[in-house]
Amino acid sequence: MSKIIAIANQKGGVGKTTTSVNLGACLATLGKRVLLIDIDPQGNTTSGVGINKADVENCIYDIIINDVAPKDTIKTTVIEGLHIIPATIQLAGAEVELVPAISRELRLKNAISQVKQDYDYILIDCPPSLGILTINSLTAADSVLIPIQCEYYALEGLSQLLNTVRLVQKHLNTDLQIEGVLLTMLDARTNLGIQVIEEVKKYFQDKVYRTIIPRNVRLSEAPSHGKAIITYDPRSKGAEVYLELAKEVVSYE
Ligand code: ADP
Ligand code: MG
Repeated sequence: MSKIIAIANQKGGVGKTTTSVNLGACLATLGKRVLLIDIDPQGNTTSGVGINKADVENCIYDIIINDVAPKDTIKTTVIEGLHIIPATIQLAGAEVELVPAISRELRLKNAISQVKQDYDYILIDCPPSLGILTINSLTAADSVLIPIQCEYYALEGLSQLLNTVRLVQKHLNTDLQIEGVLLTMLDARTNLGIQVIEEVKKYFQDKVYRTIIPRNVRLSEAPSHGKAIITYDPRSKGAEVYLELAKEVVSYE
């Protein structure tokens, strides 16, 4: 059975894309069939797995707006078992173009249903907003994974995200679950990080992953080489923790 996980937080820079790429790559390394869906107009997941956006003919935009079949947009990556539906800047227009569209919230869900059976995990990298693209993702997903950066104001804005999740549960996707909350970019040298961990655990309790992602410079270098951390530097701390996270995610199957 396949599982569709939306990786969402309307704050930018919290580790959504880093988690999509590296959790996806590590799940594939564990032998799972993984599809990444990049639904952020910035297309960082797309370039992060080594796809040159200039070479992309059809992207997620064409699926959502032009009814192109998902299988005609899927690209393979250097990692066996890791596929991607890319995004390009063309997607930036979709928010506006979808406003008058029929069943606009269901576009992604309907498209994914055509390829769902081919994958064990489908990870959707959401944009940093709670607009129609994130709504499409939450409507298509079985669950939502929320990355939270270990910094001041970590919980700020989360009530809006959780409110959006509740609205989607009520009106569009009654089965939507919280998959887990992932603490990212922990700087172990500061007390602040520890305080944030406690605060987030108090709020989300057993929904918080045991695996915590530390700050690791190799993780921030890998995207500019178009590589997931396990191919860029398999011995790094970043590779170790994302593999640990993948195993934890699989353990909740
Ligand atoms: P989002 O997709 O939520 O906007 P990103 O995953 O793009 O966030 O991360 C924001 C920036 O922080 C990127 O430059 C990324 O390379 C860097 N980054 C993410 N996670 C880590 C980490 N654990 N250690 C160091 N840098 C990180
Ligand atoms: Mg991103």
